[in-house]
Amino acid sequence: MSSRSNVVDFIHRPNYITIMKRLQAYKFELKLSRGQKRILKGFAGSCRYVYNKSLALQKERYEKSEKKLNYAGLCKQLTAWRHDLKLDWLSRTPSQALQQSLKDLERAYENFFKKRSEFPRFKKKGRQDAFRLPQGFKLDQINSRVFLPKLGWLCYRNSRKVEGKLCNVTISQSCDKWFASFQTEREVIEPVHPSTTAIGVDVGIAQFATLSDGHIFHPVHSFQSRQSSLIKWQRRLSKKKKFSKNWKKAVFQVSRVHRKIAHVRQDYLHKITHTISKNHAMVCVEDLQIKNMSQSASGTLARPGKQVKAKSGLNKAILDQGWYEFRRQLEYKQRWRGGMVIAVSPHYTSQKCSECNYIDSGNRLTQSEFKCINCKYENHADIVAAINILRAGHAQLACGEMVRLDHSMNQEPTEVTQAKVA
Ligand SMILES: [Zn+2]
Repeated sequence: MSSRSNVVDFIHRPNYITIMKRLQAYKFELKLSRGQKRILKGFAGSCRYVYNKSLALQKERYEKSEKKLNYAGLCKQLTAWRHDLKLDWLSRTPSQALQQSLKDLERAYENFFKKRSEFPRFKKKGRQDAFRLPQGFKLDQINSRVFLPKLGWLCYRNSRKVEGKLCNVTISQSCDKWFASFQTEREVIEPVHPSTTAIGVDVGIAQFATLSDGHIFHPVHSFQSRQSSLIKWQRRLSKKKKFSKNWKKAVFQVSRVHRKIAHVRQDYLHKITHTISKNHAMVCVEDLQIKNMSQSASGTLARPGKQVKAKSGLNKAILDQGWYEFRRQLEYKQRWRGGMVIAVSPHYTSQKCSECNYIDSGNRLTQSEFKCINCKYENHADIVAAINILRAGHAQLACGEMVRLDHSMNQEPTEVTQAKVA
């Protein structure tokens, strides 16, 4: 095994101070009365109405080959609807929240045009009820309460101090709970990573992540292990009369299982990414196009997909593991610590011998066994892959050909605002 890990050292010990902008979100659970919950539901409902109505309008304009309305055009349209359609009830919701949902629609279109997401869809009642306020709200941390326009003060479970300038607040519902998420912005001195080592990470199905130092993180199958209970509740749901009391109960149970799955996965990913990011200044990963890999395998009518069943199984496994989220978390955690993530080309990382660089598909005996045909070197296949990824990362760094990381992946993007040479 090579020991070139100190390569990182000179790159990561700059003798000037850089100030960077850190965007961070803080999420708290709200403590609400029944009346307050009802009002929040109303706010979210109005925002959903405005969003859906605007989306319908944009689609209609598209079909008539008319130009898409921009944000200002949509705002005008909103005022017109209020007057023409007598939508007086909309005025019960803070107008900034309604305008924000128009902005959200704009963003959804932009993401679609930039191929970051699918075409915007209509929002459904009871699914991700939420609204956002860019201003007009107040945060009183001492008394653990938040002020929303047209509603008043709401208490929240104050678990940590919010730092920085408040940018906006998102109020959302998950099952029977409501949350407030504050987006903040502050300037911090760019940190220097406490460690100087580098590590290669191979992600897979059998093992969630394997490190080049031999450490293995086993997968948690948060979805697979709860699939049966999910199916059970979904079946019960399908037999109930829609909107009946029992139907509502079943809907609640289904969303509870979903929330549990998401929590278990998220918690585990945070633990792994924390451990890796804490211990290593440079993390090399394979630049897997997860979006493409996990795309629908069934194809179109004209061009049906191959191995549909096998691929959909792989898709489920990939999405269950949360590789995309893993990379996103690694990137922002590394940035916050002053480390880096290098994405390398995934070619031959699993077939190349890490001792003699001999590439052959025959090197790989089974899923987990690796034995070089050329030099007889033996190791766990995932560890060999991780070592190759680390090597490729070092090579990339030496050549200076950094792969630009996709910033749309980061919810917590940070950018360098100014650099001062000391
Ligand atoms: Zn070899």
